[in-house]
Amino acid sequence: MHIIFGGTFDPIHHGHLRLAVELRERFGVASVALVPAHIPPHRDQPGTTSAERLRLLELAIEGEPGLVIDDRELSREGASYSADTLRQLRQELGAQAPLAMVVGTDAFAAFDQWYEWQAIPSLAHIIVVNRPGSQLDPSSQAARLLASRAAEAPSQLLSRPAGLCLALDLPLLAISASGIRERIQAGRSPRYLLPDAVWREIRGKELYVGGP
Ligand code: ATP
Repeated sequence: MHIIFGGTFDPIHHGHLRLAVELRERFGVASVALVPAHIPPHRDQPGTTSAERLRLLELAIEGEPGLVIDDRELSREGASYSADTLRQLRQELGAQAPLAMVVGTDAFAAFDQWYEWQAIPSLAHIIVVNRPGSQLDPSSQAARLLASRAAEAPSQLLSRPAGLCLALDLPLLAISASGIRERIQAGRSPRYLLPDAVWREIRGKELYVGGP
């Protein structure tokens, strides 16, 4: 199965990285692809450039063959839409290959506002990970979609190319990129929340000191 994990990664941190490792092991795949978004349509614009965020990702996964970067959204013009990325991947992988997209409950809560969201389940499975401190409203469209397509076990996703939603409870770290940016702006240390190499690069380039 091909697993993609998208985000702004502004910056990448140990919460993202641990999640990717847990998923790789849970599904027994060779690697999980991190997909940095170019211009995120669902949230504020990041304070860093795409190239800077990509560099931080490269430093974060150095020496870890189980994590790879798929930078297709950075080289595409305009906004990054998951539906477009999944359509491209579907073409590359063929109709039968299992494909899954990972989202945290915080991002999935607004799933019905994503561009062409209704097309997404026919392109890929959706793995929804319970983000600490963020619960889905049971009456939301997202929660209903999750219930109507629910997979009971991770192994079910491997037997079909797309169409299932899997809610996963994983041991996740309560770390957020916004918390890291706030610390840096306040002159406090984000050390140990993210890889040292990433923190060194942030300091060297004086990223995140100017504003959120
Ligand atoms: P911000 O704090 O700026 O919102 P973030 O830390 O949530 O940033 P994003 O790049 O927005 O990071 O998140 C990308 C994806 O990673 C989302 O699906 C989000 O739910 C998930 N994610 C972020 N932080 C964690 C974490 N600590 N554990 C598990 N998943 C996470």
